[in-house]
Amino acid sequence: MGNSHITIHNKEFRPYFSAVQLDEVVTSLAARLSADYAGHKPLFVVVLTGGFMFASDLLKRFVGDCEIVFIRVASYEGTDSTGVVQEILGLREEVQDRHLIIVEDIVDTGTTMHHLMPTLLAKGPASVEIAALFFKPASLRHELSVRYVAMEIPNDFVVGYGLDYDGLGRNLPDVYVAV
Ligand code: 5GP
Repeated sequence: MGNSHITIHNKEFRPYFSAVQLDEVVTSLAARLSADYAGHKPLFVVVLTGGFMFASDLLKRFVGDCEIVFIRVASYEGTDSTGVVQEILGLREEVQDRHLIIVEDIVDTGTTMHHLMPTLLAKGPASVEIAALFFKPASLRHELSVRYVAMEIPNDFVVGYGLDYDGLGRNLPDVYVAV
């Protein structure tokens, strides 16, 4: 991909991970998942929009029967001070007694997953794990176990490979980081 910086919305980014590097880490994560879920016919729950490219590459390399569903999460402030009410859009599949794997672009503060988890667990699945392309451990603000991580990164802002900066950059095959 070269060493050229790019500009998105007047913000400068430099190359961070090439498509080849991404392919390597996604391939090895897929191998782990294939081994761990052999014979279990998991249901992959892909969180849109940022997770679409990661999910596509990951699931092409998953070996074995599986089902795939795409969801969106919508958060609303609750009426009392306990805060956020989570709604899952697009989950029509029966999840009871199924092994679920949430496929997410980035776990940053962990807030999204922290709210999604109990909503999914309330539906009675056999298990729920998280598979994230990127995990920023230094940003994590909730107790959350992220078992499947393709790459741990510092607390930097990244774009490309499904991830956007204010709507742009999702189509880039490489990942860039803000300079
Ligand atoms: P969390 O709820 O874990 O704080 O954040 C999760 C969401 O924030 C991710 O799914 C992603 O959409 C967004 N996000 C967090 N860090 C980044 C980043 O570095 N780049 C981009 N493009 N989005 C991010």
